[in-house]
Amino acid sequence: MRDLRISITDRCNFRCLYCLPETEEAKDFYQSKWDALRNPQPAAARTTPIQYDWKPKAQLLTYEEITRIVRVGLSLGLRKIRLTGGEPLLRRDVPVLVQALTALGGIEDLAITTNGFLFARHGAALRAAGLHRVSFSLDSLDAVNFRKMTGRDGLAEVLAAIEQAQSLGFTAVKVNAVVIRGLNDHELETLAEWAHSRALSLRFIEFMPLDSSRAWQRDLVVPGREIVARLQARFDLVPVDQSQNPAETARRWAFPDGRGEIGVIAPVTEPFCGHCNRLRLTADGRVRTCLFSLEEPDLKPLLRGGATDADLAARLVEIVRGKEAGHRIGQADFVQPARSMSCIGG
Ligand code: SAM
Ligand code: SF4
Repeated sequence: MRDLRISITDRCNFRCLYCLPETEEAKDFYQSKWDALRNPQPAAARTTPIQYDWKPKAQLLTYEEITRIVRVGLSLGLRKIRLTGGEPLLRRDVPVLVQALTALGGIEDLAITTNGFLFARHGAALRAAGLHRVSFSLDSLDAVNFRKMTGRDGLAEVLAAIEQAQSLGFTAVKVNAVVIRGLNDHELETLAEWAHSRALSLRFIEFMPLDSSRAWQRDLVVPGREIVARLQARFDLVPVDQSQNPAETARRWAFPDGRGEIGVIAPVTEPFCGHCNRLRLTADGRVRTCLFSLEEPDLKPLLRGGATDADLAARLVEIVRGKEAGHRIGQADFVQPARSMSCIGG
């Protein structure tokens, strides 16, 4: 395990259709898809209430607690840290946490994943605090579709944030786009063209069954292979040599002029579980060894019960030993985790 993703808040200022589909537009979208596919509405979506409750502040790990876990994790071999959420920039003083993590030494890659809406206020301070990289989520370049997908009028803010991150010297700025059939799959080429023109690293991600309403359906997943075939039909793409990095989740291609690159992350149709070196820490201090884990051991009793660093290290090792062999999407026994991506920390 080299890579720890830390959710620092479970709250969010967006309502993305694939994550927290609570808007009328999201509901209409899923309803129209079920109607068009003549599929019965999934029973779970009819009956299962939204599966999150905002955790009270006292249950969230403090910055000191997060920093302690990272310090212990570094001694066990962690090398990459990504701050995420919910929307991480909703939490107060994120640069203070970044600074504390930087001061530990030994983090080879310290990054944040954000929807970008609040980045303008914090970008410079994050950079000064030692943050290495920023990944933005952006699924559409069309203002109307952006609103439909995120529940918020925020395209201009996110585009400005991406530009700002580049001018602050963050490299290479990454953009993640979740692709959903019939919603934004017509924008694949436009997004790729844009990434090329702006020298961005764009990742197309398959839609995973991690939305809070359990509205995911396989028909809505655009398989990674289809995405690649479409992009190859339009652009001259040069495969990136990834032989030195077997744990990378994206298959990557560069543009021939060296500006920007695209990648495809296909956890649903081409699982990469065998190479996975990731752990996740939720905002309320639970460790997840897989996005689809059904169990989340809680570190709070140790952190708040006087455990030593050695106790914490032993517990982390024990948890990692129980890491799942792989996710079960598509198998008869697949069970969607109770919490959505926004609570788990993507
Ligand atoms: N709020 C921040 C953001 O959106 O960048 C960070 C947290 S968000 C949960 C992290 C990533 O998870 C985003 O890039 C988002 O697109 C992705 N994500 C959320 N739900 C997903 C789903 N059901 N399938 C695939 N990716 C998903
Ligand atoms: Fe969208 Fe990220 Fe918020 Fe989920 S956590 S609703 S992906 S912005």
